[in-house]
Amino acid sequence: MSEKSAAIRAEALESLLVEKGLLDTARIDDVLTLYNERVGPMNGAMLVAKAWRDAHFKQQLLADGTAAIAQFSFEGGQVDKLVVVENTAEVHNVVVCTLCSCYPWAILGLPPKWYKDPAYRSRVVREPRAVLTDFGTHLPAEQEVRVWDSSAEVRYMVLPVQPKGWETLSEGELVNKITRDSMIGVEVLAEVAE
Ligand code: FE
Repeated sequence: MSEKSAAIRAEALESLLVEKGLLDTARIDDVLTLYNERVGPMNGAMLVAKAWRDAHFKQQLLADGTAAIAQFSFEGGQVDKLVVVENTAEVHNVVVCTLCSCYPWAILGLPPKWYKDPAYRSRVVREPRAVLTDFGTHLPAEQEVRVWDSSAEVRYMVLPVQPKGWETLSEGELVNKITRDSMIGVEVLAEVAE
């Protein structure tokens, strides 16, 4: 289905549900705002910042992501089982949903358009390095690339490597700098000159 026809179908569905009294438009706007702004990738960034600062939390997050995030009661559900995979000098992780667009909404917000694109979904599995290059992400040849295929049951988040120099930043500053794409694994955070 093309993006345009998907949009038309969504609009048709929405007006039908509103007409039948099953849904009101204000509620839809509330949900969109929640995902785009409030839930967004802020929750994921907070988890990453906390993991970088707190070795015990990092260990919990990597051992059992679902249990580690339970304490935050993130809104938006959709994370039955969260698996957090850690990037290191040896391994770089990338997340995809080859089947559709499963994504950890509660911690990363709405998936970006390209995440749902069949081209990304099929290609990142076959040639992850080429796809990462398209994102401007160049990995050392010796670094292993692992691709994680999400499903309705298991959602993944990447724990990015903390760039040099970020040790001095506060958790709040870190949250602002940790990008959504770095938690999907298509971007490597780099120390940016101010
Ligand atoms: Fe999916």
